[in-house]
Amino acid sequence: MTELSPALKQATPVLAARGEGVYLYDESDRRYLDFTAGIGVTSTGHCHPRVVEAAQRQVGTLIHGQYTTVMHKPLLDLTERLGQVLPEGLDRLFYVNSGSEAVEASVRLARHATGRANIIAFQGGFHGRTMGAAALTSSGVKVRAGIGPMMPGVVFTPFPEPYRQQCSTEEAVRRALAEFDQLLVTQSSPRDTAAIIVEPVLGEGGYIPAPPDFLAGLRRRADAHGILLIVDEVQTGVGRTGRFWGHDHAGVRPDILITAKGLASGFPISAIAAGEELMSKAWPGSQGGTYGGNAVAAAAALATLDVVEQEGLVANAAEQGARLVEGLRKVAADHPVIGDVRGLGLMLGNEFTTPEGTPDTATASRAHAAAAEAGLLLLTCGPHGNVVRMIPPLIVTAEQVDAAIELWATAVRSAVAG
Ligand code: PMP
Repeated sequence: MTELSPALKQATPVLAARGEGVYLYDESDRRYLDFTAGIGVTSTGHCHPRVVEAAQRQVGTLIHGQYTTVMHKPLLDLTERLGQVLPEGLDRLFYVNSGSEAVEASVRLARHATGRANIIAFQGGFHGRTMGAAALTSSGVKVRAGIGPMMPGVVFTPFPEPYRQQCSTEEAVRRALAEFDQLLVTQSSPRDTAAIIVEPVLGEGGYIPAPPDFLAGLRRRADAHGILLIVDEVQTGVGRTGRFWGHDHAGVRPDILITAKGLASGFPISAIAAGEELMSKAWPGSQGGTYGGNAVAAAAALATLDVVEQEGLVANAAEQGARLVEGLRKVAADHPVIGDVRGLGLMLGNEFTTPEGTPDTATASRAHAAAAEAGLLLLTCGPHGNVVRMIPPLIVTAEQVDAAIELWATAVRSAVAG
């Protein structure tokens, strides 16, 4: 009998048969509140009728027109549409299929444009599993273990983590920027440094928002040394954090922005945006791939952006995120094992900690499993898997948020009881 590879380890026992809005249904038609959204992908909910309609129409018209051979209208329309939401000046776009590929494309672009080799990434950061993206990823030992040698030219420096460092946000920012400055002296001189790559919210690393002062500090250093700032919005983009882009919370300007997950409600497409001068330094033919900028995915992305705008999903993410975090904090207040509840918008994490202050992965895992058992699908993250995260579709309603909080309270109670 043929089976799936053991590398494909499933986090829940659910066999998904269909999805509708915020709900997933299994083969026996049992309904689950899906607060995973395919890891932050199904931004408009499962099978939003407008996304379905746009994709179906495109499937009957043109499925694939390889973009370095022939161009197609969905990609040109998407490019124009993204222009309405991208930061000013980031008006040249390139498309691939996944977050990892977009990360790798951004590194190529940064190296081509600057003629420098090094990329500064953050401890606890996640940028993907392909070899280049894995080289930039330090969260999750599984991503890097046993596959070396890694791509050279990557240096890591700490990200501010006030909860784990047991200090104020200001102090965590001060320390992280001081370490960053030190790095430029000891390990990666500005002359050798092409780019800094940063997530506006450390995602797989445990849902830790980058303090605005930290991103502003990186921007200043990038400007001072001619280093490019790559903002990895693969998980935080398209409204997830309650602003259109995660970096909007800090008001900094990226040199290169990459976005993927929520962009097309589940169709594989990712985009790299940069200014004209920078993008013109990419060597023709150096980027892309056979399936990049697929016509159906582009049509789905266009429909997604329309739904996000017309249904006010960015504002809804901010509003429902505030409601969710308030409920989660109440649950945490009853259960000291949840030491921290944090995040931005609809990207929230609950960190489980033992009374001794060490990661409590066992209780987090039990709470995650109990929630799934009760009908609420969640994910874990963090270097020890002790952060239970919630990333519902951006269409989630107040009633669904309240239902999830209730299920979560029950799951945590049973996890604590052992
Ligand atoms: N960057 C970030 C910030 C991510 O969260 C992820 C995926 N979790 C990636 C890159 C990689 O994306 P993909 O899995 O689509 O390759």
